[in-house]
Amino acid sequence: MNLFSLKKLVLASALLWSAPTWAMHIMLDPGHGGVDTGAVHGAAREADLVLKVAQRLKALLEKDEQFKVTLTRAQDRNISLPARVKMAEDAKVDLFVSLHANAASDQRAKGVEFFFQNNLPPDEESLFLASQENQMILNSKELHDISGGDELSKKGDIAAIIEDLHRQNRMASSLRLTQTLTHVWNNDENASQATIKQAPFYVISKTSMPSVLIEIGFLTNPREAKKLLTTDYQADLAQKIYSALLSYKEKMDNRTAKTLN
Ligand SMILES: [Zn+2]
Repeated sequence: MNLFSLKKLVLASALLWSAPTWAMHIMLDPGHGGVDTGAVHGAAREADLVLKVAQRLKALLEKDEQFKVTLTRAQDRNISLPARVKMAEDAKVDLFVSLHANAASDQRAKGVEFFFQNNLPPDEESLFLASQENQMILNSKELHDISGGDELSKKGDIAAIIEDLHRQNRMASSLRLTQTLTHVWNNDENASQATIKQAPFYVISKTSMPSVLIEIGFLTNPREAKKLLTTDYQADLAQKIYSALLSYKEKMDNRTAKTLN
């Protein structure tokens, strides 16, 4: 059997084994906490604001049986970045969403930013971005399942294929979620501007599942900081992220269903 056939076999098995309905386990990671306050400008403390938004988002996700949700921290306490990653890996979550707030030397800087980690070298990156709509997407749990316990997985080529699929899947899913988030923001004419960026933030670089980091706004922009301190705006942010997660899950489910037919 050549590598291409093996790849197809691995994909087909993973898709057949996926359950028709499943709860996506999301780990929400409010950044900073405890002695690490994050950015502070006037009354706005990053660690507090992201925790408030995370708790509101958790409440929305908990009401929906399509999701299972865990927080890296539910209080104002300090957790190291490696400990956050370990929590996500140990719980084998499907998605890792880290929440932060921005600060910039230019007070005019504003809006939300969605970061995903791309491990491809720059020349491959453009190719990947161009072709990613045609990629077959698997969720990371399915790939974990086929890499463990299966006799074939002892073979190095299978391991390499799984590694490759896993990396592509993680990146494509992370990008898809950032695009979905941007779409939600762009559909609301009152929403602040939304930008997709790439940066090697520790938590999104080291987690093995799809992950995004959301900068919810600039504390250094006086108007934005004022909004971020209101419960209405915090609720709006949580609702928007929740809508994007719903639509992301729907896309993942449809993709699996389409591939099976
Ligand atoms: Zn931060």
